Amino acid sequence: MKLHEYQAKSVFADAGIPTPDATLASSVDEVVEAAEDIGYPVAVKAQVHVGGRGKAGGIKLAENREEAEQAAEDILGMDLKGYTVERVLVEEAVNFKNELYVGVTMDRGEGKPVAMVSTKGGVNIEEVAEEDPDAIAREHVDPAFGMHPYQARKVVYDAGVPKEVASDVASILTTLFQLWDDSDASDIEINPVMITEDDEVVAADAVMNIDDDALFRQPDLAEMEEETFEDDLERKAGEYGFDYVRLSGNTGIIGNGAGLVMTTLDLVDYYGGEPANFLDIGGGAKAERVANALDMVFSDENVDAVVFNIFGGITRGDEVAKGINDALEQFDEIPKKVVVRLAGTNAEEGREILNDELVTVEETLEDAVQRAVEYAEEVEA
Ligand code: GDP
Ligand code: MN
Repeated sequence: MKLHEYQAKSVFADAGIPTPDATLASSVDEVVEAAEDIGYPVAVKAQVHVGGRGKAGGIKLAENREEAEQAAEDILGMDLKGYTVERVLVEEAVNFKNELYVGVTMDRGEGKPVAMVSTKGGVNIEEVAEEDPDAIAREHVDPAFGMHPYQARKVVYDAGVPKEVASDVASILTTLFQLWDDSDASDIEINPVMITEDDEVVAADAVMNIDDDALFRQPDLAEMEEETFEDDLERKAGEYGFDYVRLSGNTGIIGNGAGLVMTTLDLVDYYGGEPANFLDIGGGAKAERVANALDMVFSDENVDAVVFNIFGGITRGDEVAKGINDALEQFDEIPKKVVVRLAGTNAEEGREILNDELVTVEETLEDAVQRAVEYAEEVEA
């Protein structure tokens, strides 16, 4: 579960981390009222679950009432990488001379949490990690002992944080680690921690993701989930009981089993296509589940063609095929081309049953993926 910036900031503030004065707003009037209250300049920031909002136009600074109104009109209702912005955070703007990155995540390779600090803050940290890995100082923490004070000081020193703010940054890092541990967080980060002209440190952004499997013992955080506006398709996936992740391409992918879907994703990429999503409909492939999965990919505007990768196991291939036919017959018109690859028990019988007026049937996964990528390219062209 992802917390919104405003939610994560309230958690951080409660733990003693300095955050700017801020108010959540969902209309132009509310934005202006909040801005007048806080005092100019303010930052108006889209509250949606995407990174890089700044670059994408989801953050604007306003020096006066007119600019606050304009920023609110521009950002409220805008589409930010597939998410409609319903709310913004209106925040006291920070006048900063430097931006830092501070974060805690799980290092699966080491089997330990890792605390990270970088003076290359305010930019995409994944890019920094790739292009200039030494610019990020890291310190692994033994979960049995927690983060020792010397470890926080060491990673801050290793990162080259200016000495005027070193102890404040170390204290933020220590608090973040404690929060990470207490909240069953998977990732927690502040990018940027801003350093002001007066050498004050402020958490200007906030990311906090909680392990879904631990939400049962985090009732306060779980409660925040109801307040978050998920992507429409993610909400639908939740209702249907599917595992779903939206991606940026135009080839829709459906499969039964996470490994099968991942393989399909890799192959779409391999054959020059771009996956639009990860969608695992789980075991079996009853007509209703298939119809729900198709409903999802058909209603995704980014999808130009669909590849369906089904493995018949306990649910035999002929039953799966009937399910797909029944599901497709529920649509008056099939809006996007669908390619099916059916393997496993009774696959051959299944392929014969599939209605090839409604779908393209391919015997191998390679052929199915290539065909779907071609279809998607034709639509794009
Ligand atoms: P993100 O793009 O989604 O990560 O959103 P951030 O909250 O990290 O903001 C991105 C960038 O916008 C920051 O690195 C700053 O450069 C700028 N920004 C955000 N808030 C303020 C602010 O209060 N004052 C100023 N001057 N810049 C800000
Ligand atoms: Mn950020």
